[in-house]
Amino acid sequence: MERKSKHFETKVVHSGYDSKNHLGSLSTPIYQTSTFTFDTAEQGEKFFAGEEEGYIYSRLGNPTVTALQEKVADIEGGEACLAFGSGMAAISAVLLSLTKANDHVLVSQGIYGCTYGLLTLMEEKYQISHDFSTMETEEQMKELIRPETACIYLETPINPTMKVIDIEMVVRVAKQYNIPVVVDNTFSTPYLQKPLEIGCDVVVHSATKYLCGHGDVVAGLAIGTKEIISHIAMTTQKDIGGILAPFDAWLLLRGLKTLPVRMDRHCENTKKLAEWLREQPLIKAVYYPGDTSHPDYEITKKQMKHGGGLFSFEIDGTKQQTQRFINNLQMIKIAVSLGDPESLIQHPASMTHSPVPEDVRLSMGITDQLVRLSVGLEAWEDIRDDIQQSLDQMAKDENK
Ligand SMILES: *Cc1c(COP(=O)(O)O)cnc(C)c1O
Repeated sequence: MERKSKHFETKVVHSGYDSKNHLGSLSTPIYQTSTFTFDTAEQGEKFFAGEEEGYIYSRLGNPTVTALQEKVADIEGGEACLAFGSGMAAISAVLLSLTKANDHVLVSQGIYGCTYGLLTLMEEKYQISHDFSTMETEEQMKELIRPETACIYLETPINPTMKVIDIEMVVRVAKQYNIPVVVDNTFSTPYLQKPLEIGCDVVVHSATKYLCGHGDVVAGLAIGTKEIISHIAMTTQKDIGGILAPFDAWLLLRGLKTLPVRMDRHCENTKKLAEWLREQPLIKAVYYPGDTSHPDYEITKKQMKHGGGLFSFEIDGTKQQTQRFINNLQMIKIAVSLGDPESLIQHPASMTHSPVPEDVRLSMGITDQLVRLSVGLEAWEDIRDDIQQSLDQMAKDENK
């Protein structure tokens, strides 16, 4: 009870772990074991029958992973959490457990490239079809909902176009039809946005990104009610097996403790850079949901604490010029992924969203001139100066 009243910043440090149960160890021990011993055959029987709680085998549960799951459930505002070996393992487990053959999924227009790939696979193998919706109005959504729609799946802000979907509106529609809503909350983290509190049913994360925050783990998480999460645990995860290793869980536990501090800096840097970049020549457009001029700013303000640590922009030039702009950066690293201390830049059309057919990609707003920047924890002036020198180089090349 008392724990519920603690602030987010306190929960990320203390929640889900009591050193008294671990010989006083301040840091969560890494239970680097595949299996657990039973005192007697009868105890083993009880564990398997679920009559007594205890660890059996690390695919079914591991204390280091449990500590992570309890912390994340608490900070995301859910009853339970399940950790996976990657974001895609979490997303596929959730989608596979919520659907059966011939079902339908309503998806936000603009989703992570591999989630698009997964939906295509589900359609080819199990005839689970999907429709994309911009989810701008209730009417648009209702037109696409069918009797066999088994779930609504969305990302907001959308990767990499930074459009924002009104979660409250989506929940209102979903409740009318009794359809569960799944939100990929990777970009925002629970520090900025809590979809479960708005009424969504499941939150998924690529914990690889901000939750880990140090670019050294690939991991996924799913959070929701005890009923949904234990269903996923006992069916899809147990038998498909995309679990998280104890050491990776430990790295995540460590990273999570500084999440609010890191997010504040990511967001502050991003806001300053986006404002500055908007005024530069050779920049056609800047997309940042934290900008008062962003078309979805009112929704951002309603459901997010800050605008996040990512933004996209379009270079006023060709694809080749855009790639040259990226190549001429000196400090900013060229890499996919996001949420790391290092600023990372990528070209969605040829990288993260290259599996998406060109016409679909363009309809999502992902042009050849669009670049996405994950703003790091460096001094913002140094990130700005790096972009400035690359833009100067571009201006010089143009005047040749
Ligand atoms: C990275 C990412 C994923 C996939 O996560 P992995 O950990 O790479 O499997 C899913 N959704 C979003 C929004 C992402 O950025």
